[in-house]
Amino acid sequence: MYKKVRPPEEGEKIRYENEKLVVPKNPIIPYFEGDGIGKDVVPAAIEVLNAAAEKIGKEIVWFKVYAGEDAYKIYGTYLPEDTLNAIRDFRVAFKGPLTTPVSGGYRSLNVTIRQVLDLYANVRPVYYIKGVPSPIKHPEKVNFVIFRENTEDVYAGIEFPWNSDEARKVREFFKKFGINIREDAGLGVKVISEFATKRLVRSALKYAVENKRKSVTLVHKGNIMKFTEGAFRDWGYEVALKEFRDHCVTEDELLSYGKQIEGKIVVKDRIADNMFQQIITRTEEYDVIVTPNLNGDYLSDAAAALVGGLGIAPGSNIGDGIGVFEPIHGSAPKYAGQNKVNPTAQILTGALMFEFLGWKDAAETVKRAVEMTISSGIVTYDLHRLTGGKLVGTREFAKAVVENLQSL
Ligand code: NAP
Repeated sequence: MYKKVRPPEEGEKIRYENEKLVVPKNPIIPYFEGDGIGKDVVPAAIEVLNAAAEKIGKEIVWFKVYAGEDAYKIYGTYLPEDTLNAIRDFRVAFKGPLTTPVSGGYRSLNVTIRQVLDLYANVRPVYYIKGVPSPIKHPEKVNFVIFRENTEDVYAGIEFPWNSDEARKVREFFKKFGINIREDAGLGVKVISEFATKRLVRSALKYAVENKRKSVTLVHKGNIMKFTEGAFRDWGYEVALKEFRDHCVTEDELLSYGKQIEGKIVVKDRIADNMFQQIITRTEEYDVIVTPNLNGDYLSDAAAALVGGLGIAPGSNIGDGIGVFEPIHGSAPKYAGQNKVNPTAQILTGALMFEFLGWKDAAETVKRAVEMTISSGIVTYDLHRLTGGKLVGTREFAKAVVENLQSL
C-alpha cells in the first residue's frame, strides 16, 4: 500500500465503529512537518504532546509522512498518495503548514487534503489564554468555536483564467440568459449545496449540545448572494428546527417569548460583515459559529487576533471518523528555520487532537502548561514585542511548557 514510507511496527490503529472512534493506548498517528516554520513548530509541539500523553499513561506512535517541499524531493510530487493513504488508514493526523503559491502554480495542498478526504468541517476554537496580550479590553469574553465549511464555496476550485477557452465558452453560455460578462474577466464558481451545508450545521449543533454551549450563529452574506449564502442560512435553520428541536430555540422565538429559556441553545444568524464587528463589540453573545468556507477563513483570523494572533490559534479538519489537525497559521517562510516563531498554535492544535481522541485530561494539561508558561513571562518574539518578558526561541518555549506540564 505504501511506496516510500513504512508504518511503525509498534502501536495500534485507531478504529471507527458505530460512528465512534475507538482509540488504543498507543495509537499510530501520521504527521508531517510541512513547509517553512512547520519545521520549527511541529517538532516542538511533538515534545509537548509526548510528555502530556505519558502523563496519562498513553503513548503516541508517530508515523512520519511527507507533504510540500519535502515530499517533492522524495516523490517528485507535493502531496503523495502515501500521505493521503496514511491519513485514511490511521484516521487522525497531525500536520504543519503548507505553502500555496498565489495566482499560478499548483493548487492549495491544504484545500486538496480537505476535499480528497472529505474533511468537511474546519473546526477552530478561539479562546483566551491568560497572560497573552490582546487588542481588546476583555479578551476573556472570547470563547468561540468556528465551524467553517471546508469543501465548497469559491474554494471548490472551479476557476478559469480570463483568456482561457473555458472562460470564453462560459461567457458565451451566459449570453443565452441575457448576461454579459466582460471579455477580460477571470471566472470562478461559487458552490453551496444543501447536503454540505446541512452536514456542517448538524455537526456544529451536535457539538453545541454535547458541550452545553449557549448559542449557534449562522454567518452568511445571504442578503447579496441569496441562492448560495442565503440558502446556507435557510438550510441551517431547517436542520436546527427539524433535527434539534428539543435542544434549541431560534432568536426570533426568544424575542416573542421575552426571555432566555434555560438549557436551550439559541440559534441565530448574522450577516458576515456585521459579524466582524459583533465579535468585537458584543463578544460574549457569540459561542458556536457556523459559516461557509470563505467567510470562515476571514473570520477565523480576525477572531484569532482578539486573543493573541496566529501564533496562538489551533485548528482542525473533521470528517466522519477522520480528523486532520493543523494550526490556523501558514508557513510564514520569512521566519523558517530560525527557531523564532511561537509554537503555541501547533501545541494547542495537539490539545485539540487529544480532545478528538477522547483524551480530555491530556488536553487540559497541555492548555494549562501553555498558560503557565506565558503567564510566567516566557514568550516568543510575537508576544514579546507586545508585552516584553523573557524572550525565548521556539524550542526553548516548548521546553518550558514541558517543564510546567511535568510539574502539574
Ligand atoms: P502566515 O504564514 O500565517 O503568516 C502571517 C504572519 O502571521 C507572519 O508573518 C507572522 O506575523 C504571523 N505568524 C504566523 N504564524 C506564526 C507563529 N507560529 N508565531 C508567530 N507569528 C506567526 O500567512 P501568510 O504569510 O499569508 O502565508 C504564508 C504561506 O502559508 C502561504 O503560502 C499560504 O498560502 C500558506 N498558508 C498555509 C496554511 C495551512 O497550511 N493551513 C494556512 C494559511 C496560509 P509577523 O510577521 O507580524 O510577526
